[in-house]
Amino acid sequence: MEPVLLYDTTLRDGTQGENITFSADEKIKIALRLDDFGIDYIEGGWPGSNPKDMQFFDLARRVEFRQARLVAFGSTRKPGIQPQEDDNLKALIASKTPTVAIFGKSWDLHVREVMNNSLDENLAMIHDTVAFLKSNDLEAIYDAEHFFDGFKNNPDYALKTLHAAIDARADFLVLCDTNGGTLPYEIESIIADVQKFIHAKGLATSNHSPCRLGIHAHNDCGLAVANSITAVHNGAVMVHGTINGYGERCGNADLTSVIPIIGLKMNRPCGSEQNLEKLKSLSRYVSETANQVPLNSRPFVGKSAFAHKGGIHVSAIMKVPRAYEHMEPALVGNQRRVLISDLAGKSNVEFKAKELGVELGGNGYDSKKIVSEIKQLEQQGYQFDVAEGSFKILMEKFTDQFEPIFHLESFRVTIEKDKDGPCSSQATVKISVGEKQEITAAEGYGPVSALDNALRKALGKFFPDLDTMRLVDFKVRVIDGGRGTAAKVRVFIESRDQDQIWSTIGVSEDIIEASWHALADSFQFKLANEKQIRNRKYPAQEELPIFGK
Ligand SMILES: [Zn+2]
Repeated sequence: MEPVLLYDTTLRDGTQGENITFSADEKIKIALRLDDFGIDYIEGGWPGSNPKDMQFFDLARRVEFRQARLVAFGSTRKPGIQPQEDDNLKALIASKTPTVAIFGKSWDLHVREVMNNSLDENLAMIHDTVAFLKSNDLEAIYDAEHFFDGFKNNPDYALKTLHAAIDARADFLVLCDTNGGTLPYEIESIIADVQKFIHAKGLATSNHSPCRLGIHAHNDCGLAVANSITAVHNGAVMVHGTINGYGERCGNADLTSVIPIIGLKMNRPCGSEQNLEKLKSLSRYVSETANQVPLNSRPFVGKSAFAHKGGIHVSAIMKVPRAYEHMEPALVGNQRRVLISDLAGKSNVEFKAKELGVELGGNGYDSKKIVSEIKQLEQQGYQFDVAEGSFKILMEKFTDQFEPIFHLESFRVTIEKDKDGPCSSQATVKISVGEKQEITAAEGYGPVSALDNALRKALGKFFPDLDTMRLVDFKVRVIDGGRGTAAKVRVFIESRDQDQIWSTIGVSEDIIEASWHALADSFQFKLANEKQIRNRKYPAQEELPIFGK
């Protein structure tokens, strides 16, 4: 079976997404990751449109890619001039990539009403540009922009635009759903019509028969992945998309879904030497670089993609994972997670205890007691499915295994506001560690930051390793807003060190007290882990689970 070629446009179409920008250097790093993963084509940018993309191709020439082909993107020549006179095409040639993708118009509406061009000149522009690329010994990918809308409006003309590219020996014809409004069954029937046309005329893309078709789908109806898969199912051999589906408006086809569907569900070879277990880390790497919060519910690679909450589900997956999972999470580098909540049954608690290394009595009594306690605490506003650090401490407390590393004696937080100056916050914390007491004071950007600094300073006297720990996220949510400022608040804290990420929770009517509980749990969790590692009775650092991520 012919392999499906993966064509990534994260670095070009992906950067059309709101709030997504990459420096030339970041683009190189992403390109290397895509190459390492096994993507066949990497579209680096549009050298004719901006200097940053030009710089990217300059840098890329000095980088060796293992197997991916780098692609420069641009448009057909301008009306009324020769291709060799066109600055945009000169920039494409100057970028020295082995492959060039150019887009041309398939929709007569665009030709006539947007570009004020004639239909014949548009066909000549497509033909001349592809022929020019081929005369420069380049692989030419022709992107038929708005192909499906064009076909619906004027099928004969849309097919003529493809014919013009084929006549000029294009290597691939990529049918684009640029506005993202086409439905899967329309994709299917239009591709069938294209194939009929190609067959009837005996056409071939660059001596490759049948013509090699590709798909470039946008996600405006939430169907970009479905449309891409439909196209592949109906004969397309190249799929365009972006990592995490980043792109203009609602984005492009998300390759983190397209790739496992083609590889694992359709059992088609796709991506040379591609390494599916790296999919989740690739997704994460791109979202980190784009400075975007990873979407938990993203299929295959999201944090929640294989997370189970209902007790019945959990007891079933403990016996037979595929009872509630469509595939093995490890195949895409993800992992099964069990969440703890008031929907949880004994099975969730037992699964989680094992994962977090807490020993429960074998008679089921502990887990039953913990389940009823969770239900009560969740009534008060706790939420443990997102606070695994606090949940571990809770389980230890209930089974008398909790050994607090430090005790709070007292704290005081003051906030001062001078009529002309900004607010300033100070905190004093008194703790004891074993027999010793420590009092420290610190300032901060706000009361919680001052409290964090003071506690960190006090604990730092006993545990010098603590400076590897960072607070990465702090969220406050009002639970029962109807009570106004007397409402309860829930505070989440996410912390990390060089090995792991964990989250903790606190609930109180007092925002400082809620923050204190979440902070204290976070430090207890970190220090208990350090102690376990020091005592060597427990798994080595690299085997410790990553919490919350
Ligand atoms: Zn696009």
